[in-house]
Amino acid sequence: MKILITGGSGFIGSALIRYIINQTQDSVINIDKLTYAANQSALKEIEDSPRYAFEKVDICDLKTLESIFEKYQPDAVMHLAAESHVDRSITGAGDFIQTNIVGTYTLLDVAKNYWCTLDKAKKSIFRFHHISTDEVYGDLSFSEPAFTEQSSYHPSSPYSASKAASDHLVYAWHRTYGLPVMISNSSNNYGAYQHTEKLIPLMISNALMGKPLPIYGDGQQIRDWLFVEDHVEALYLILTKGRIGERYNIGGNCEKTNLEVVKTICQLLEEFIPNKSHNIRHYEDLITYVKDRPGHDIRYALDCSKIYDELGWRPRESFDSGIRKTVEWFIAHNKPCYGYYNKT
Ligand code: NAD
Repeated sequence: MKILITGGSGFIGSALIRYIINQTQDSVINIDKLTYAANQSALKEIEDSPRYAFEKVDICDLKTLESIFEKYQPDAVMHLAAESHVDRSITGAGDFIQTNIVGTYTLLDVAKNYWCTLDKAKKSIFRFHHISTDEVYGDLSFSEPAFTEQSSYHPSSPYSASKAASDHLVYAWHRTYGLPVMISNSSNNYGAYQHTEKLIPLMISNALMGKPLPIYGDGQQIRDWLFVEDHVEALYLILTKGRIGERYNIGGNCEKTNLEVVKTICQLLEEFIPNKSHNIRHYEDLITYVKDRPGHDIRYALDCSKIYDELGWRPRESFDSGIRKTVEWFIAHNKPCYGYYNKT
C-alpha cells in the first residue's frame, strides 16, 4: 500500500513514518511544509529507504497537491499536518485557520477528485484517515465520565476550534461525496522528538538548563497521556482495519495532573543526573506557578472501549515506563551542554 502522509516531519507524523517503514511493507510519501515544528532529523533512520519519498508541500496549495496525487497515485491518506500548539493559537490564530481548516478543505477536495477517477478495485481500498484531538470535545469536570465517540463538540481554544472544524469537513466529504474517511481523536502525546514548546520536553530541557519550570495556574489540570509509539500503532490499525465513516478515540488510560507530570520528571532527573549544575539543589525547586492560560481546559479523558473492542488495541506503555523512556531520550539528545537537539 502507498500511503500519503501529511505533516510527516512533525512529532507524531515522523513516529508514524518510522513505524510504517520499519514494521510494515508499505510505502510512504511524506508531504510537509516544514514549518518551525518540523524536524527532519526524526526521519534520518528511514530517509534512505526505497519505500520513502519526501515532498515539501503546503497543504493549502491546490495545484501542487493535485500534481502529488497524480505523480504518486496513493492508496490512502493519513492527514496529520496542522498547527498544533494551543498557546500559539491564542496569540495568533491565522495560521491555525489557514492550515487546519483551509488546508484540510483543500486536501479533502483534491483527495475526493482523485478518488473519483480511480477504477473500482482501487476505489474500494482507498481511505482518508484524519488525525484529530480529544480537545474538540471541550473539557470535563473532575467527576464527569470520560468522552465517548458520541460526545458533542465544545472546543475551547482557537486550536481546538480549528480542529473541530476540520473534523466536520471530513465528515461532510464522507456524507456528501462518499469519500471513505475515518477520524481518530487522541489524547496528549509524549515521546522522543517532541518539540520543546510542549509541556514534557519543555520541563525536561528547562530543568537540565537550570531554568524555571513554568506551570499554568495551580497545575491541577488533568490530561490523559499517550505514548507516541502506542498512538501510531493505533493509527495504522485504524487505517487498515477500522470501519469507514467511523470515529475512534485513542487514549493512554493515564490521567495525571500537570503538576504530577512535572514532579515525576523532576524525580527521574534526580535519579539520572543527581550531580546538578547551575546551583540547583532539587529539580523540584525550579517549579514556578505562572498566570493561567485563558480558557484553559480543566480535564480531558477518553473512553476508548470502541478501539479496544473493535480493533483489539491497547496502549503498551504505562505512564511510568513511557515517561522514563522519554526523559532518558531527551537527556541522551541534549549533549554536550544541554543545547536542544531539535535544530542541530
Ligand atoms: P507537530 O506540530 O509536531 O507537526 C505538524 C507538522 O505539520 C509539522 O511537520 C509541520 O511542518 C507540518 N505542517 C504545518 N502546516 C502545514 C501545511 N500548511 N502544509 C503541510 N505541512 C504542514 O504536530 P504533532 O504533535 O505531530 O500533531 C500531528 C497531528 O496530530 C495534528 O493534526 C494534531 O492536531 C494531532 N494531535 C496531536 C496531539 C499531540 O499531543 N501532539 C494530540 C492529538 C492530536
